[in-house]
Amino acid sequence: MTWETVIGLEVHVQPTTRSKMFCGCANSFGDPPNTNVCPVCLGLPGALPVPNAEAVRLGVVGALALGCTVHPTSIFARKNYFYPDLPKGYQVSQYDRPLATGGAVRCESPERGPIEVSITRLHLEEDAGKSLHDRYPRRTAVDLNRCGTPLCEIVSGPDLRSPAEARAYLVALRQLLVYAGVSDCSMEKGTLRVDANLSVRRPGQSGLGTKTEVKNLNSFAFVEKALEAEYHRQVGLLESGGRVEQVTLLFNAGTGELRVARVKEESHDYRYFPDPDLPPLVLAPAWVEAERAGLPELPTARRARYADRFGLPGYDVGVLTAEPETGAYFEAVVAAGADPKAAANWVMGEALGSLRETGGFPVPAPRLAELIGLVTGGAVSHQAGRKVYAELAAHPDHPPGVVAERLGLLQVGDESALAGWVEAVLAAHPGEVARFRAGEAKLLGFFTGQVMKASQGKADPKKVQPLLRSRLGP
Ligand SMILES: [Zn+2]
Repeated sequence: MTWETVIGLEVHVQPTTRSKMFCGCANSFGDPPNTNVCPVCLGLPGALPVPNAEAVRLGVVGALALGCTVHPTSIFARKNYFYPDLPKGYQVSQYDRPLATGGAVRCESPERGPIEVSITRLHLEEDAGKSLHDRYPRRTAVDLNRCGTPLCEIVSGPDLRSPAEARAYLVALRQLLVYAGVSDCSMEKGTLRVDANLSVRRPGQSGLGTKTEVKNLNSFAFVEKALEAEYHRQVGLLESGGRVEQVTLLFNAGTGELRVARVKEESHDYRYFPDPDLPPLVLAPAWVEAERAGLPELPTARRARYADRFGLPGYDVGVLTAEPETGAYFEAVVAAGADPKAAANWVMGEALGSLRETGGFPVPAPRLAELIGLVTGGAVSHQAGRKVYAELAAHPDHPPGVVAERLGLLQVGDESALAGWVEAVLAAHPGEVARFRAGEAKLLGFFTGQVMKASQGKADPKKVQPLLRSRLGP
């Protein structure tokens, strides 16, 4: 018996604003508990909310990047529930009249190839505070700094058919929002959070099975793992004659297990109603169009441009466009005169290595372009070029040619110097010489490697090989 998986994702993204959604408190991460609070975000009597224009603008930019229709009028509504980290007793969200509806995200499904995932809606809301269970033994503390921070909730249609597809969608969605400048979308900092809905059904069946919601997912890899586990849990229940209950589950990344947290509420349980303190959010169509016109280049367009203009292979295009900063650095290296394919190789190798270690690109783009010129021109071997790169990373103001010379890495193409190394290598390996002369031609690579080693990478390999051939020849 086979089952089809049906997955929809609710993604909460925190737009990068200086202040909170409805008050002037700082929207910052990691401050001491309960320091960024005021009467508005604490819900004290008489305090009145004022929407944050930049949060609204970033919500609109995100919606446009996802191809959604931005509605001229949307309504802030109160979602009522009790929780210790929600002092107002309600969360301001948008319900039946959200900011935007009807977009799509294109991504590459590992099973089905290119797919288009529908976006049901994007709405604005405020976050709740945070309960801290690990701060004091056997007690729960509450930090209200996060109370009232802005969020965009992005709801996908039930279009995903496997956990791996869910992950591919998340990668594409994150990339779009980072490119659009909406948010840094960091799961570590909690500026991107994922709730996943999953149900199973028989292939060909058009109705949906009972879905469950999995929360507490703090990396894309865990989203995939948790959904795998939930698929097996549901299929196990159904195949043993049981049924799936509509529940919310928490994923334990340590054990890979799912635990039922509570029976899932229906939306009517929240008694949504329009917030009487907030008038309808009315956006001028001309302003929305100006934001659309101001959208930066998005990932699909950038990938097409890299393939067309630089003639790069698909793999390189994917790596260079994964983060906007990587592409910007690559383009600066090319603009400074480097060959695009060579620049792509250096950025994907050394520069991304630096980024992983230091969080930045330490070698200025024009310096890297100069270094690439030295390597492609044969003045420095590729191997030596990497040493020069490491030196440049520590001293970005030194010219690569000077560094190469100082480190004694300029290639030696001089016949007599090369001949000395060649003779020494051949003398040290009489067995290999005999085998080469007996027809084992592939040993040429071995000899070249030995000469490079003997010269500490300084010999010009293009000149070493002809020399080796003539000495080894009959
Ligand atoms: Zn506040």
